[in-house]
Order: sequence, then structure tokens, then C-alpha cells
Amino acid sequence: MKTLIDKAAETHSLEYKEILALIKDNSENEYLFKKADEVRKQFVGDEVHLRGLIEFSNVCACNCQYCGLQKDNSKVERYKMTVDEIFETAKKAVENGYKTIVLQSGESKVYSIEELCDLIKRIKQLDVAVTLSIGEKNEAEYRALREAGADRYLLRIETTSFKLYRKLHPDMSLSRRMACLTFLKKIGFEIGTGDLIGLPEQTDESIAEDIMFFKEFEADMIGLGPFIPNPDTPLKNEIGGTFEKALKVMAITRLLIPDANIPATTAMETIRPDGRIIALQSGANVVMPNVNETYYRTKYELYPNKKCVNEDADKCRQCIEEKIKSIGRTIGTSQGFRVRHNAK
Ligand code: SAM
Repeated sequence: MKTLIDKAAETHSLEYKEILALIKDNSENEYLFKKADEVRKQFVGDEVHLRGLIEFSNVCACNCQYCGLQKDNSKVERYKMTVDEIFETAKKAVENGYKTIVLQSGESKVYSIEELCDLIKRIKQLDVAVTLSIGEKNEAEYRALREAGADRYLLRIETTSFKLYRKLHPDMSLSRRMACLTFLKKIGFEIGTGDLIGLPEQTDESIAEDIMFFKEFEADMIGLGPFIPNPDTPLKNEIGGTFEKALKVMAITRLLIPDANIPATTAMETIRPDGRIIALQSGANVVMPNVNETYYRTKYELYPNKKCVNEDADKCRQCIEEKIKSIGRTIGTSQGFRVRHNAK
């Protein structure tokens, strides 16, 4: 296993069967995490980029079987922040030092594209990068959002298994999601994608395919998190993903796409205390603290016990900053775009 890990750390290239072997064998996990940390340091340095996350609406037209925001979950109290509220939240985050604002919501048409474009233009005047995570739109809409100034788009693939995707996403299609990603890339967005680890019926083979996909697609950002069963969804009785496995997939991804931006996800922190710090020491270089008012945070429950839902934005930032500095890392001072190193 060590030879395989060294090969990945040096060449940033593995065949499918080698990735699969790494996923299946747990004998050298600590070595893998150490190597991923070294590659992270070599390619993206010690800076940790903080992206201020605004979860601006939980209204959703989709029925992703794992997600607490799914349309059929009648227990959710739906909200829609006003455009002015979103802007004010972004402004406060920028005043607090954030260089990127991430606008995330369920998939819906509760805001017109014109409204979203105006919002993006206003936020861009604050001299920050804007990332959108608002799901599937049509090409004209994506184009308008890009022309309004949005810089990045996050759209997780969740799984590259067509069979599993169909099962977990009624009325949605993996081909369409892939087509969205391809189009977003074509029109110049920096692209973030990723998957959920530990979905029911997900196999190691399918996770190895996911990693191959991230590499072949040349994703700029890859967000990986454990699936955490939500008691108000059809998957409430499933076991969910483990921290170790999500961390492992993240570390392998770092070795293979050494210059990508890789977040230490909130889901990791939710199932393991200090999960984000462990992730930052195993290949990650980004954290996305929530900058919403607490009032809205409690209503954006993708999964139970979501970390930091009861903390205000200032406290959240202070807490993560201190932890980052305590492990000898620094807070990113730029907008933190991917810097390509032409690794194979
Ligand atoms: N609607 C947008 C989209 O589809 O990209 C963005 C919002 S969606 C709620 C953000 C992410 O939450 C999803 O991509 C999914 O991976 C994650 N998520 C949803 N339910 C989850 C769960 N039960 N456990 C872990 N992550 C979950």
C-alpha cells in the first residue's frame, strides 16, 4: 500500500484498480493522510481559505432521498431571505474579512434570475469572489449568472453510479447534472463538485469511479462529506458514512488533484469533534463557515446535529480561526482561486 501511496503522491496519477485497492485496504491510512498533508503543503501551501456561506433559502423542489430540505419533508419551516437581507449578511461577512461569499439554497424558482443577478452585482461591488450553489438551471440562466459576475459554481455529483443516482433522486438525472457541470465549465465558472460517502448501496467501486470523474473532469474544488441520515427523510434508518472513509476519499483526491481546493466539510465536523481540523491536516485547505443569522441556521437542517447551528457568525469565525492558527496554518488573504500547477 505504501508504494501505491508514494506513487500517487509523486505522479498524481493512479489507475482505477489502484484507487480501488487504496480505498479497500485500511492498513496504511495514517501514511495516506500524512502524504496528503505533504502534497497539500507542497501545492497549495499553508493558507486556509475561508468562504462565508449564506444559506439563503431552504425552499426546494427536489426530493433527494437523503436531504432534510427535500420537498416532501413537511416538518421543515420554509424560509426565503429577502435580497436585502442576503446582501446585508454578505456585507457583514466581508467586513469580518471573508474574501469569498458562497450563496447556497435549495433548488427552486422563488427568486427570479434577474433578482439573483442584481444581488450578485451588488455583492461583487464589495470586491469578493462569489460562489453559487443553487442547483440545476438552464443554459440561459447559467449564462446570465456568470455575466452578472459570479465566479464559481458548486454542484456536487453526489455519486457517479447511474443506478444509485436514479434511486436517490426521483425526477432527476445524472446525465443532466453532468451536462450542467460541463456547461458551467465551458462558460468560465470555476467548478466545485463532490460526492457523499456512505450512501446506501454505494460500493467502493463506485467511489473509485467518483474519484476518476473528479480527476478527468478537472474539478477545481472537490467537496466530500459523509452521508448523515436525517430522521425526517426516507433514508432515516440507514447507517450513514464514516468519518474515516470520507477522510480517506478526500486524502486520495488530494494526491490525485494536488492543486485543487478541497474543503474540510461541516458534515465531517458533525460526526467527529474537530473533524474539520483533522481534515485540514489530511489534505484539505478550505473551510466554509456559516455566516447566516442563527435564526435561519436552525432551519437549514440537511442532517441532524449540524455543527455550529447555534453559534453566531462572529463567534464561528473566531473559533475556526483560532483552531486553524493552533495547527500552524494561516488564514488566506486572497480570494483563493485555484492556482494550477500543471500536475498530470
Ligand atoms: N440544491 C443545491 C444543489 O443541489 O447543489 C445546493 C444545496 S444542497 C442541500 C447541498 C449539499 O448538501 C448536497 O450537494 C448534498 O451533498 C448535501 N447533503 C444533503 N443532505 C445531506 C445529508 N443527509 N448528509 C450529508 N450531506 C447532505
